[in-house]
Amino acid sequence: MDQILYEVTDKVAVISLNRPEVANAQTGELLDALDAAWCRAAADEDVRVIVLRGNGKHFSSGHDLKDRWPAPEEVTLEWIYNAESRRYLEYSLRWRNIPKPSIAAVQGKCIAGGLMLCWPCDLIVAAENAEFSDPVVRMGIGGVEYHGHTWELGARKAKEILFTGRAITATEAEKVGMVNRVVPLADLDTVTMDLARDVAQMHPFALRQAKRAVNQTLDVQGFYAAVQSVFDIHQTGHGNALSVSGYPILTQLEDMKKHIKAQ
Ligand code: ZN
Repeated sequence: MDQILYEVTDKVAVISLNRPEVANAQTGELLDALDAAWCRAAADEDVRVIVLRGNGKHFSSGHDLKDRWPAPEEVTLEWIYNAESRRYLEYSLRWRNIPKPSIAAVQGKCIAGGLMLCWPCDLIVAAENAEFSDPVVRMGIGGVEYHGHTWELGARKAKEILFTGRAITATEAEKVGMVNRVVPLADLDTVTMDLARDVAQMHPFALRQAKRAVNQTLDVQGFYAAVQSVFDIHQTGHGNALSVSGYPILTQLEDMKKHIKAQ
């Protein structure tokens, strides 16, 4: 079964994460297919707006950690840095900068790597049951690879969710400006598509330049430089895990999973 589905209707490209049986956990293969879908939508002149959504109960449970690590004796910090530079940092930044408006539709859990899929989108529509969290401090690392936290939540809220690992609700996320709208779960797809069709009526060059104006303002404020340097800070977490356990995360990962299940 394809891990990513892609269709175009009414000038809207709809990209669906399609691993509902594992809450859309992200394999390398899924991320490569997702990147290809974003690039396809960017290149298609018939596409004016891009919607990113997830099949099933949850938007995404984050990276599928079973998928990504080679044997312990083969893992080096250089390997981790190279792998994460491409699939996490480079992909998320590319999606953020695609010159067409994008909208994420988020339901259920959006955990850690899940944030790296919805934060690069221009707008976020959340179902009432959506919950956003980055609990990777439990794994000994100071947050996911793409540091949207401070920009999306403000400094204090960013620190709180990192320090505690707790999830914020859709309503809280709306209050701090991280999501645009909170809607009943049953209406999530309809509201998102209505919004996408509405935006798709605008002139594509004007949309492109409106997006560029906002993103460029954030970049002038330091977004791009901060995301690059925090990626390297993230790697010191991996370096520490390697030096402590000789292998990243496995024991911490089990603790984190137990904690998430208990929530
Ligand atoms: Zn990492």
